[in-house]
Amino acid sequence: ASTEIDIKSLVRTIPDYPKPGIMFRDVTTLFGHPSGFRASVEQLVAPFQDQRVESVAGIEARGFILGGAAADRMHCGFVPIRKKGKLPAKAIGQEYELEYGVDVIEIHEDALSPGEPVLLVDDLIATGGTAVAAVELLRQLKAEVVGAAFVIDLPDLGGSARLTELGVPCHTLMAFE
Ligand code: 5GP
Repeated sequence: ASTEIDIKSLVRTIPDYPKPGIMFRDVTTLFGHPSGFRASVEQLVAPFQDQRVESVAGIEARGFILGGAAADRMHCGFVPIRKKGKLPAKAIGQEYELEYGVDVIEIHEDALSPGEPVLLVDDLIATGGTAVAAVELLRQLKAEVVGAAFVIDLPDLGGSARLTELGVPCHTLMAFE
């Protein structure tokens, strides 16, 4: 069954990408594997299946792939959180820190209703900068963030702990040092 597959072994590690010293965790090999992708999506939504969730919010770009499949599985709508300037209708933005400088992610201001239960999805959480900014956007729309789900956690970088401190239950499928 797809739940018995070792999904961690399907993640490919690319040393020195995008720059020297970085070990990039490449999920294209996991997503490209038929039962690997299916098992990932299954395990990602498992803790939230019994909760009321109306929308899945996915972070561009790999969060779209997982989030779309997760929304389908949970019978939810899908809401994109995009890099600045990509959304066609009126949007609100949130800055977050990169190693050098800042970036902005955006969400349509009418994407979610007040009180709407939403699950946040992305492929990987590192420092948590991106996910924390996403939670701030969702909360600005007064949505209820029921949790956040990631395939990969880099716990040494502290992101999953930051989310927990914000009161967002954080579900991850595997960790790398
Ligand atoms: P953070 O904001 O938590 O520091 O970084 C997480 C964001 O950067 C996520 O949107 C994730 O897609 C991307 N990211 C950072 N490092 C990696 C990596 O090694 N592999 C993948 N697949 N994504 C990464």
